[in-house]
Parts: sequence; C-alpha cells; structure tokens
Amino acid sequence: MKYCFLILSFLLCADLSHAQRRHRRSANADTVQRVMLDTLEITAKAGKPPYQPSAPKLWEINNTRVALSFNWKEKTADVKEWISLHPYFYASDSIVLDAKGMQIDSVELVTKTGNKRLQYSYNDDRLSVHFDRFYISADSVTLYLKYKAMPYAKQSGGSAAIVDDKGLYFINTDGKIPHKPSQIWTQGETESNSHWMITLDKPNTKFTSQIELTVPDTMTTLSNGALIKQVKGTNGMRTDIWKQDMRIQAYAVMFAIGKFSIIKDKWKDKEVNYYVEPEFAPYARQMFNNTGEMMDYYSQITGVSYPWNKYSQVVVRDYVSGAMENTTASLFGDFMNQTTREIADKNSEDVVSHELFHQWFGDYVTAESWTNVTVNESFANYGEQLWRRHKYGKDAGDELAWNDLMGYVYSSSLKDPQLVRFNYDSREEVFDAISYNKGGAILHYLNTLIGDDAFNRSMKIYLTKNALGTGEAHSWRMAVEEATGQDWNWFFNQFYFHAGHPLLKVNYNYDDSANKLTVIVNQAQSDSMMDYTLPLKTAVIYGDQKTVIDWNINKRKDTFIFAYKNGVKPVIIPDCQHVLPGEIKENKRSAPWLIQYRTADDYVSRRLAIGGAGKSMSDSSAQELLTFALSDANGTLRRFTLSQMEKAQSDKYRRRWTPKIVEMAKSDNDKLVRSDAIDVLGSWKVTTAKGIMMDALYDSSYAVAGSALEALAEIDADTAYMMAKKLSLTQPRASLQSVIWNIVGKNGKEEDAAYFEAQAPYVQGTKKFALARGMSSYLKHVKSDESFIRITNSFTDVIVLESMKSYRGSLGGFFFQVAAEQKENIKSDKPEEAASATKRLAIVKAAIEKVIAAEDDAEQLDDYKKMMKETFEKE
Ligand SMILES: [Zn+2]
Repeated sequence: MKYCFLILSFLLCADLSHAQRRHRRSANADTVQRVMLDTLEITAKAGKPPYQPSAPKLWEINNTRVALSFNWKEKTADVKEWISLHPYFYASDSIVLDAKGMQIDSVELVTKTGNKRLQYSYNDDRLSVHFDRFYISADSVTLYLKYKAMPYAKQSGGSAAIVDDKGLYFINTDGKIPHKPSQIWTQGETESNSHWMITLDKPNTKFTSQIELTVPDTMTTLSNGALIKQVKGTNGMRTDIWKQDMRIQAYAVMFAIGKFSIIKDKWKDKEVNYYVEPEFAPYARQMFNNTGEMMDYYSQITGVSYPWNKYSQVVVRDYVSGAMENTTASLFGDFMNQTTREIADKNSEDVVSHELFHQWFGDYVTAESWTNVTVNESFANYGEQLWRRHKYGKDAGDELAWNDLMGYVYSSSLKDPQLVRFNYDSREEVFDAISYNKGGAILHYLNTLIGDDAFNRSMKIYLTKNALGTGEAHSWRMAVEEATGQDWNWFFNQFYFHAGHPLLKVNYNYDDSANKLTVIVNQAQSDSMMDYTLPLKTAVIYGDQKTVIDWNINKRKDTFIFAYKNGVKPVIIPDCQHVLPGEIKENKRSAPWLIQYRTADDYVSRRLAIGGAGKSMSDSSAQELLTFALSDANGTLRRFTLSQMEKAQSDKYRRRWTPKIVEMAKSDNDKLVRSDAIDVLGSWKVTTAKGIMMDALYDSSYAVAGSALEALAEIDADTAYMMAKKLSLTQPRASLQSVIWNIVGKNGKEEDAAYFEAQAPYVQGTKKFALARGMSSYLKHVKSDESFIRITNSFTDVIVLESMKSYRGSLGGFFFQVAAEQKENIKSDKPEEAASATKRLAIVKAAIEKVIAAEDDAEQLDDYKKMMKETFEKE
C-alpha cells in the first residue's frame, strides 16, 4: 500500500519537474523502485512495538514432498503432501502447522498398515493435528495431507519491500489479458509459502524437499534442486519431479511454471541456466552477465565453493518485489527483460550479484529469525559492492557504497531503529534501508578495520560453522572474533544493537595570525547517551602533499590542531576512506574543496568536493573546480558535475561551460555522460546544438537518443514532434519510448489517439507508468472530444487489465489527476472551454467509476473512495 502511493507521488512530481529529468527517471524506474523499497516506512505508532522471539522449535521437519496440480481459471491448486518429521527435543502428541487460506480435505498418519485418519482443527491459518500418541525426538512420523490452496480467496497484506503475500501467484492464467504470457510462480519470503504448502513457515525450519508439478506438456517448470523425473500423463499433461536434497528454509522453496526458453551455461560441473520468455532468449546471457565469474569470485572470498547442485535464474511477469534468492533458483521481476541496446545503457548486475551472494548468506546460512534478517540482507547488499570493486575497480564499488549509505541516511529521518530488530509490529518492516544499506555500510567499515584476509576468514568461519543451519548477529561477531583473535563486542554493541548512527560535525577554524588550523569534531547525533568509538583515517593535505593519519574519535568533542607549513594552510578530509556508517557535516569553503578535488584520488572525496562547489557557484574556486570536474576520469562524476551545473541560473556561467558541454554531448566516451550533457543543452535551450541533437536521435544508446529528442523538444517543438512520430516506427524501447509518448501526448493531435490505442495493449510492467504519463498528458492537451473519449477508454483498459494492485492504484491516480485538471478548466472565463471541461469531467468520472467497479481489492477500494471524495465532492 505504501509502495503504490510512493510510485504515484514520485511520478507526479517527476511530471512537474524539469523536463530533462523526466525520461532519465523513467529509464531508471526499476532501480528507483528498488531503492524506494528500502526508504519508506511511514507508520508511526505510539509505544514500543512488541518483542519478537525466535520461533520455538517443537518439531523438526526432515523432508516435505508436495504434489500440486492447478486449476488455471479458478487460480487454485489441488495439493497432496507428505511431511516426515519428529519432535525437536521434548516429547509431543500434537503439532501446529502453518496452512494459510486453505480448504483441508484430509489429515492422516502414514503407517506400515495403511493411513490412519487423525483428529485436527483448522483456525486462523493454523492446522492443529492431534496424533495417536506421544512421540519422542528419536521417532519419525509421516503425515499425509490433502488440501486445496486458494491464494486468491482472501485479502492479502505484504510490505514495502514485498508488495503482496499470496505465496502462490497465477499470472493471466485465465487468458483475459491479450499479449501476456500465462505463468504460475511462488514467493515465499517472509512466511507466504504456507499458502500452498503446509509447513512450519519459519526461517529456522530447514528440510529437504520434493516438489511435483503437474502441468500442460507445453509448459516448462523450475524448482529447487534437480529435475529427477518427467512423467507424461493423460490429456496432454506432464508431471515434473524436482528434488532438493540439501536442507533449505521454508521460505526458499519455490517453483515457477511458464513458457520459458532455457539458456544453459556451466560453472565447473554445475548447470547454470536462465529461464526467460522466448522473445528475450537472445539476450539472456547479457541479462545475467558474469554469473559464472561471480560464482568463482564469491566461492573464492568466502572459502566455500558454491554449495548447491545448480544455479538457475528465472524472469517472471508481475513479480511482487525486485528479485528473490530461492535456493538454487533465484526469481527476478520483468525489469530484467531487456534487449542489447537497453542493457548497454543500464544493466541489472547489482541485482544478479545480490541474489547470488544470498545463496551463501541467506540460503546456506539463514537468519534464524526476522529480527536478525540483516545477516542475510547486509551481506547481499555488501556482496554487490564487493563484486563491483573486484570486477570494475574501487571507484565503481565506492560509488555504490556511497549511494547505499545516502539511501540509508535519507531514510533514517523517518525511522532509525537498531540493526538487530528485537521489537517490531510486522515482520515485513525489517526489509528496509537499515537491514540492507546500513547493514552493508557496517560490513564495509568492519572489512576496512580488520582487512580483507581477516574479513574473508570471518565469512568462512561463519558459513562453515553454521552450514545448512541458521545464524544471527552474534554468530557473525563470534566468527569475526575467532578470525581476528580480538574482541569486537564494542563494535557490535554500537552498530548492531544500538539505534541511530554517528553524526560528526567537523568545524575548521583557520587562524592566520597563529598560523594554525583547529579542527573540532563533535559527535552530534541526537542520541546524547551514546558516544561512539570510531577509528578513522583522515587525510591532511598541504598543497599537493597528502598524508594519512589516524583519528580515534571516542568523545563527544575531539580537537585536532595542524600548523601551517611555510604559510601553506592544511586541508583535511575526515574519514578519507569514507567508511563511517553515518554522517559527516563539514564547514568547508570552496578553496579547500578545490584542493581536496585536485589531490584526492578516490571517488567519494571528489564527489563531496563537486557537491560542495555546486553549493557556492558564484565563488571562483567553485567554478574552477566544476570546470576541472567536467573532465573527471570517472563518468559518474562527470554526470554529477553536469547536474550541479544545470542548476546555474546565470548566463555568464552557462556561456562559460557550454562549449565544453557541447563537446561532451558530441563525443564523450561514456553514453550516459553524453545523454546528460544533451539534457543540459536542452534545459539551457542551446539552439546552436540542434545539429548534435538531430544526429543523436539515431544513436545506438536509447539514453542518448531519448535525451536528444527531449532536448530537441525544448528548442524546436515541431521538429521534435515530427521526429518522435518517425522514431516511433522503429519500435523503440526504454527512455526513447517514454520520451516519444510524452511528446506525442503533449502535442495532443486528434489523429494520435490511434497511436496510443495501438500501443497500450502491449505495454506491461513498470513501463505502464511512462505510457500513463503520455496518455494523461494527451488527455490534457487534445482538442477533439472524440479523441478524448477514445483515450479515456483505452486508459481505462490499461488500469482494469493490470493485475498488480499497487500498479492499478498508481495508474488510477493518473485519472484523478486528469479529473482535477478538468475541474480547474471549468472555472475558465471562456464559456466554450468551461462547457467542454464539464463534459470531460463527467467522462473521466464515468471511467473512474468503471475502474472502481472492476476493483476487487478492499484496501484499494478504500483509497479510491477517499480520492473520489477529494476530487469530486470537495470544492
Ligand atoms: Zn536480499
């Protein structure tokens, strides 16, 4: 729910802000969402949330065998299940199993002389089974269960990170949506697999499994472990039997069914393969680029060779989160479906590395409770950085580390509880920027403090000692202590078990008469009870001479004095490795920023300097710095510099920088830099750059072509429209497609109703938002009432045929925006305009009513009702 409003507000602001920013955001929509997942949590309840203990272990499951057949139209599954289990320690004559929203047909005990019916009761998603006698832990009991899984029968919940909790998803299995494949897939985390598999649905339950899927022979299946048998049945059906023979946690059990192409690679003697829609088969290896090399690298640094029998990655439609690390079979959302041209602009390698590292941290060793989920997520987050540093160098890793840290700092203004979360209201809350980003930042700091060898050894100890079992923050601490032979309680106490983060205020007082610089470092975090111990490296620069010294910050206030050398004033880069999992605020001026920029060889120090200069552009040192930074060796920093310059209002600065930016737009070796440079030229309306823009329209990079078209629209709207129509015939994707929709929408030409009508049925997933922007803009600008009605109808279909409720809500929001515009137009002094607006408002209202009539989600209906009231009742 919170998720959908975030998408909506994000898209609406994007619409109002600078045109230049628009398509870049839409191009990055998937990334943006993934970041957003981590940064929102807006409920604030009074009082402390309850203590959440680990699930008590009363019974242990050895193996579960689940045989499923599906009713594709009804969206239900008929299930037979055999669970073998035994009491964990204490003798017991009953068990309570998780069984969500099911119809239970039979509960039996399997014995040598045949099955015995058992007494049971089924309430509140729990199946209580009463055995015939007490059993002890040395016994082995097999339960046989027959039931119907009905994931669509009841209201579902979910969280910011995972927007639904049905567990089992039927995608277009009734075939109602044209041009969309039919698929069935599962999503277990957190405790959702018990919607289709009766189990002890807790992260500290691990068992082996056999999943048997009866499907039409035209379909492909994927599940955990190995496909051991395929049995042809009657009526064109087939049963696939998958066996997972190493224990995995309940939430990592998975299956996916659809018409997939399987592209096969190998890592050592293990199968590595990609399940994708046939259309994307040619791009599958690029989509999952470097998977094998990552497996090498992670095996090497952890000292644990990839532990499972195979690694599959599957892309499905309408996935409810970013991606999921099911053991041996990770599942990804359809943002992965990209062509070569799109991948060249922006790949999803961070997501691929994240899910892969989870096969060690999360699957091989699993967080024993949601309280400790950070021992899964912090490593997956840090794994992305480690891979980037290894493969693409320090700058690339530092860039991601910095972005993640800023994501956490930004979200910490909303909430900042402790990393190990003993108290929470909903277990879904722990999937946030604290468990992920802050956890990753803390690992980065720890790695820097103890060194790579010790960090790798700690990982090996943690993974081997807890192999195929569970771990928690203390298991990790003890592994670090065993590896290093040192006490790390002080570190864990302040970062894992204490809320908030350090905030250092660094003040520079240059005293020219005394020839010295006094640096005062204040720990300014709001938590006045906490003084952090922070061993940090700090750079001291005299001219172009840089030395690195130790700063052991451990008091509320520390003072450091540096004498001038032969009149040269020192410049300080506090925490010059940029590993503090917190914030540093400095009162640095432009001249020291310039020295920092010219002397520092690392990404973050330079980025901070560029940001500092961007805040004081009227200063000559700042201008000099920005000019230098346009030629920075790092493309991301050149882009960051462009973003600072774009804010420049004065023509004086614009004139100064334009020639260089024109050159960048033409020939920078980084496509995204070229794209951003063109954005700036468009934003500044540099008409002399029209030729560059025209040339760039056919660039192989969609980002460059999209920027060029949008920039062209700024200086020559007619040509831009003409070119947009021409380019639309090339079946563009990514940002170029979004820009075309925007331009066609803005022009509101009567005949373009047919264009949108033809596009709409083929647009799926997050791309629908870009389409919605174009269509709602069209509704705002089109003069013809007939075209207005046609696009209103077409947009109604876009919403009604969307199966993700959060997307439906956000798309519906566009209609309310259109209604609000028409309501405003009614106030016009031109009677014709006012009359037309009255008519159109009624049309949109009727369309919204149609959307509401088709909505079956109670929560979404509530939201719509509120929006109806806001839009149509209030004056
Ligand atoms: Zn993860």
